[in-house]
Amino acid sequence: MAHKNQLHVVVVGGGGAGISAGISAGRKGASTLICEKMPKLGKKVRISGNGRCNITNDKLDATCYNPESKAIIESILSRFGRLDILKFFKELGLRVYSDKEGRVFPITNQSASVMDVLELELSRLGVEIRSDCEVTSIKKSAGGFALESKQGLLEAQRVILCSGGKSYPISGTDGSAYALATHFGHTLVEPVPSTVPLLCQDPWCRHLTGQKIAAAVRYEIDGVAGPVIEGDLLFTDYGLSGLAIFDSSEEISIAISRERVTDTQIIVDLLPFIHEDELKKELSSRLRRNFPNDKLLAGLLPPKFAYVLEDVFKTRNPVTIASYVKRKTFKITDTKGWNEAEFTAGGINHKEVNPRTLESKKCHGLYLAGEILDVNGKRGGFNLAWAWASGYIAGLEASAKS
Ligand SMILES: Cc1cc2nc3c(=O)[nH]c(=O)nc-3n(C[C@H](O)[C@H](O)[C@H](O)COP(=O)(O)OP(=O)(O)OC[C@H]3O[C@@H](n4cnc5c(N)ncnc54)[C@H](O)[C@@H]3O)c2cc1C
Repeated sequence: MAHKNQLHVVVVGGGGAGISAGISAGRKGASTLICEKMPKLGKKVRISGNGRCNITNDKLDATCYNPESKAIIESILSRFGRLDILKFFKELGLRVYSDKEGRVFPITNQSASVMDVLELELSRLGVEIRSDCEVTSIKKSAGGFALESKQGLLEAQRVILCSGGKSYPISGTDGSAYALATHFGHTLVEPVPSTVPLLCQDPWCRHLTGQKIAAAVRYEIDGVAGPVIEGDLLFTDYGLSGLAIFDSSEEISIAISRERVTDTQIIVDLLPFIHEDELKKELSSRLRRNFPNDKLLAGLLPPKFAYVLEDVFKTRNPVTIASYVKRKTFKITDTKGWNEAEFTAGGINHKEVNPRTLESKKCHGLYLAGEILDVNGKRGGFNLAWAWASGYIAGLEASAKS
């Protein structure tokens, strides 16, 4: 039985998932409060997509996430999927466009526009916002839940945990809020940084710092190779970065940080646009024409590479040179860590929530949505899509009559 000061729904965390949950609960007429630890809502939404906010993707489906979470994603997207997300933002007044990879951005290219329309809707619905309000504990009480926060005690019939993962701690997510769920018996799939630069001590990285090329990379873990990923490769003084590395980083991160594997490599094809046999022929022709060593790959690779390839070029053997540049191997020692990771791989075990409603199987009336769960998508708008979709469903369910 609800009493006078008890809210219907308290949402813990005002990121993409928490805002979406607040809106759907508010639309159902539930008295709703969002507690956000930071001074403003949506810090991560504001920095996402380099400030452009890639809100979703036209190719949104369960294949774009970690395979273990397929069932829960399919279930949630069947209730609030690609078209629902687009409609949701359209009705809020946000105009969007898609790029050729299907990534959807606001027409203004500014995440502030996304936050504007979301905050207007929260305000229209009368959803209460408390910023600078970290929730430090949640306990079951007679009528629902008692929450301790930096701004005092709160009571609610239902609680939605949308406190995010561990990446980018400056945006309010340092992993400390996992304890709010584990208190109720939830378990944690060890969170590791994902979509993150990689550390490597190969002298190439130091010599080529700042150099960016279009490459094709593969990760290799304990001798087993992953798929080929094409994209930018950036050499840095600490190792490797760029989109091709970001997209290869999750498996490496899981291997190093969760499974304690020591044999992790990135294998780079420095010249993906030329087949190895064609490259051998090209090199043979250049050698016949007496190209000097430092010009053997002139016009194919930036001049800086002549220095790091000096010893290989000295062989003047087209087979050796072609094989080397098609499979240059970098031993990876670690990732660049949480401060530079865009996503968290891992989190509260999604098998412990009802895949249709997102209600905890451990505690009636508690719901979990967004990055706090061990659901993680590829780069390209899939993580925010999960935040909007899961938050919306959790808000609907939590605001339903008991
Ligand atoms: C640099 C960067 C760029 C990104 N770009 C994109 C992109 O373009 N497209 C995309 O799809 N994804 C992107 N992502 C990922 C995406 O932003 C996240 O997956 C998504 O925002 C997660 O939403 P969430 O609401 O679950 O968690 P968050 O957005 O992390 O929100 C959780 C909120 O909970 C608050 N909180 C934590 N603990 C407490 C507590 N105890 N009490 C109260 N509040 C608490 C935090 O302060 C935070 O505001 C990017 C991430 C980063 C870091």
